[in-house]
Amino acid sequence: MEGLDRFNDISEVVEADRAHVWHHLSQHKQYETGVDPRVIVEGKGMKVWDAKGKEHIDAVSGGVWTVNVGYGRESIANAVRDQLIKMNYFAGAAGSVPGSIFAQRLIEKMPGMSRVYYSNSGSEANEKVYKMVRQIAHRHHGGKKWKILYRDRDYHGTTIAALASAGQDQRAMQYGPFPDGFVRVPHCLEYRKQWDVENYGERAADAIEEVILREGPDTVGCLILEPVTAGGGVIVPPKGYWERVQEICKKYDILLAIDEVVCGVGRTGTWFGYQHYGIQPDFVTMAKGVASGYAAISCTVTTERVFDMFKDDPTDPMSYFRDISTFGGCTSGPAAALENMNIIEREGLLENTVKMGDYCLSNLQALMEKHKVIGDVRGKGLFLGAELVADRATKEAADEKKVQAVVADCMAQGVIIGATNRSLPGLNNTLCLSPALIATKDDIDHITGAIDAALTRVFG
Ligand code: PMP
Repeated sequence: MEGLDRFNDISEVVEADRAHVWHHLSQHKQYETGVDPRVIVEGKGMKVWDAKGKEHIDAVSGGVWTVNVGYGRESIANAVRDQLIKMNYFAGAAGSVPGSIFAQRLIEKMPGMSRVYYSNSGSEANEKVYKMVRQIAHRHHGGKKWKILYRDRDYHGTTIAALASAGQDQRAMQYGPFPDGFVRVPHCLEYRKQWDVENYGERAADAIEEVILREGPDTVGCLILEPVTAGGGVIVPPKGYWERVQEICKKYDILLAIDEVVCGVGRTGTWFGYQHYGIQPDFVTMAKGVASGYAAISCTVTTERVFDMFKDDPTDPMSYFRDISTFGGCTSGPAAALENMNIIEREGLLENTVKMGDYCLSNLQALMEKHKVIGDVRGKGLFLGAELVADRATKEAADEKKVQAVVADCMAQGVIIGATNRSLPGLNNTLCLSPALIATKDDIDHITGAIDAALTRVFG
């Protein structure tokens, strides 16, 4: 392609990158002192190749649990290409063919949900929820019910309002002041118990009720939760948690928003993470895996009840949702998302995710027998974590530098894994796995084998 052929050698690309690109979540000083910035050149299936030609198996689907159907999918590229030639963009006040069809297909998989609002990123999808909640408060609750509850250790995005709802302090602490009305509730990780009770799930949910009562139920409009907390340590809520959360939301007329940005579209073995628990949300947000990174797309999905609240007085110009997302009108997103969904169905990837997830969890449990440094393993589908501790009895977190050394060792072996990273002071100690939903037993053995060797080298 004209433009991309200006370099004779890939090393020139690396130099252009070093000179001009500001990488996400990266300390650039290291690139001035002998370390080369990482440039990923190619991907196929579960594998990627970097600028040095080194092959890696990617156990985190593009680094941040995104490329659910794997790399190099020609059918998605073709679907996007055909759509772009026919009609690439029109502002989202109008509909599009792929936008309409994808919305219909999506809603078929989400009983009780009804409407899809398109935008571009997980952060933005969550911001739409916050704006909808605030507008509902203004129009339907006389300005009350404007507060949004979020949970310790959860994450909902990088924009200022999304960071106001970050349960991961290091991500937010330098970016305040934040808007008012975001209130934290306790996390539900049973491994790090906050209450010594039998029915931990219900107790952790009751802690949300305590916050609601403290704030005043008539001030609280919405509770946002990840179905399985991702970057905060792969936290699978304990038994009884979700049922009680739903009860509490109903009791106090609080809208329940589920952030499926990571769990959505197959990651946990069901279309959506919340569907493991038989709950009925009012909002569901999704991004990453919706189109597996082949195009930028996010969705804020609502019930018809929520949607109806924006039609209460058609003659009032302030009654509808006063929001636009320019690139929410790009047709590449829903076109890619539609084919992404077709692939998951055609190739039975939900079933594979359940099977391979169980297999990977049992491999991690075997590693736990061998390595004392693993304090806990947990996960759902192909979304797994292994928490590393200095001491199993005290559960003191393993040294962050050593956790990073395990990640680096795996990378040197050609296996890309993740870790809770730069998010929770003192708790950056969980290794994270989220391979593509196409993973085979061999892939899983390869990944857990690399972790085994790395743990031995780093911790002995
Ligand atoms: N919600 C969750 C649970 C996430 O993990 C992320 C991103 N890591 C986001 C929201 C924000 O998504 P984005 O980066 O697309 O804005």
